[in-house]
Amino acid sequence: MSNTTTLLRSHLCGDWQQGGGETATLFNPTTGEAVAEVARGGQDLAAALKYAREIGGPTLRAMSFAERGALLAAMANAWHGHRDELLDLSTMSGGNTRGDAKFDIDGGTGTLMAYAKIGDKLGAAKFFIDGESIRLSRSPRFVGRHVQTPRAGVAVHINAFNFPAWAMAEKAACAILAGMPVLTKPATSTCLLAERMMQILVDENVLPDGVLQMLVGSAGDLLDHVTGQDVVAFTGSAWTGRTIRSSENVIQNSVRVNVEADSLNCAVLGPDVKPQKETWDLMVREVTTDMTQKAGQKCTAIRRIFVPGNRVEEFKQDLKESISSIRVGNPATRGVRMGPLASAAQLKDVQEGIAELMQESDIVHGEQGRGELLEVEEGKGYFQAPVLLQTRDSQTAKLVHEREVFGPVATIIPYQGDVPALGALLNKGEGGLVASVYSDDRKFATELMTVVAPFNGRLNFGSQKVAEMSMGPGAVLPMLVHGGPGRAGAGEELGGLRGMSLYMQRTALQGDEPMLAEIMADGIEI
Ligand code: NAP
Repeated sequence: MSNTTTLLRSHLCGDWQQGGGETATLFNPTTGEAVAEVARGGQDLAAALKYAREIGGPTLRAMSFAERGALLAAMANAWHGHRDELLDLSTMSGGNTRGDAKFDIDGGTGTLMAYAKIGDKLGAAKFFIDGESIRLSRSPRFVGRHVQTPRAGVAVHINAFNFPAWAMAEKAACAILAGMPVLTKPATSTCLLAERMMQILVDENVLPDGVLQMLVGSAGDLLDHVTGQDVVAFTGSAWTGRTIRSSENVIQNSVRVNVEADSLNCAVLGPDVKPQKETWDLMVREVTTDMTQKAGQKCTAIRRIFVPGNRVEEFKQDLKESISSIRVGNPATRGVRMGPLASAAQLKDVQEGIAELMQESDIVHGEQGRGELLEVEEGKGYFQAPVLLQTRDSQTAKLVHEREVFGPVATIIPYQGDVPALGALLNKGEGGLVASVYSDDRKFATELMTVVAPFNGRLNFGSQKVAEMSMGPGAVLPMLVHGGPGRAGAGEELGGLRGMSLYMQRTALQGDEPMLAEIMADGIEI
């Protein structure tokens, strides 16, 4: 380890632990300078899981929803108190512009606050009463009910590199409010920010013992110690998701696993939308944002842009102009709207991905390279210019529906034909997190909804009526579910109360009605 970098630590079993063995080096993606080291392994992870189950779990389950919600608010307030420092760290360690850093950090604290409010509303209750009383015999006394109670294990959260703050916060919000302690593992390449956030919580004594632990470095043998009461919530690539799902201990113990994986999100310009109209401009704006915000490293980013064949030239022209207005360079420089990719490995993957897509598409804007950069040293950093491609033959193109290029890259796919034909083309993505439909034609939107909803976790309808208030498909909101079928991992998070059910067990109760009423006294009907 060089003497200018710090060694990041895990916080497990109530203490900071450095781990042992080999270390991985973390780099500033703008300059390529080493900024920290992380030990890869050496921690007693079985002990950490036991600590959560025996110390954190009972503490949380004894608390009401309102008390658990207050913990979430305290976390958000603690982080908000260090907001400027965290925004700077996000820029330095993740290559985020200030806007991108806010998207991650404020998105995280905002989600915690949203769940804190839900906790406040749920009040003194400790579990859910799920649905109404069901009469089971001729006598009204013998009835059935359902409850959802917090699981008696630990929520293991394994996160992707692109949102070290938001991902940690959104997962923790649902689990802690439901009543489960958390062991969170940020992705190694950007864990510097997450580790500092953990330090803040520990230094300010925000949470009771065992409620939140953090593992930095690789997952090691973590999954060998999970049990049937634990929950593994994973966000990352489809490949790692499959590895986690198929790990022997997870299968043996029927461990509940939620996977949020990758997605080739689509956006469709409706045949009714004319150039220069609000809906047209909205789509141009939102595609531009999705391609360049966080340098395209967003699971929800639009990758496939479907445009009616007779509108392609005009749409492409407007989109190219819009992308050209985004200044790329040092994310700390005022006016820069897109920074570098997060690591050298990501840059390599994105460059390989562009080359793959070019087998069946042409670059119509941008280049396979860094492009013109503002305030970046020659040859330094992991930069890739925004690249817009267009398929040569929409009917036969395959890779555009299969290869996720996790960077500032999207492809225009001209379409013709009716809704079923369009739907079939969109659904070649094999399951996505979000699909966007830009149209003012309600019949078109309705018909398309029934075709694409089964293949997507969320549909974003952009129209003239919402053009001023649209947040775009990229923002994941705490009130709406996040996740998608098929290649997107088949998981589901957030969505208000829905997101808490992952961490609770639904149990049917049958018996004497007054007895069940007493048993459920600490519950709240949802
Ligand atoms: P990744 O390489 O799959 O890593 C994700 C996490 O899994 C990291 O914390 C990683 O740890 C850990 N991991 C790797 N191998 C593991 C194993 N065998 N057992 C347990 N954990 C393991 O993904 P990434 O490159 O960080 O993230 C980019 C991908 O995530 C993209 O495909 C993107 O679409 C997807 N993503 C999806 C969502 C969503 O909500 N659906 C959100 C964000 C990103 P190390 O870092 O220590 O290797």
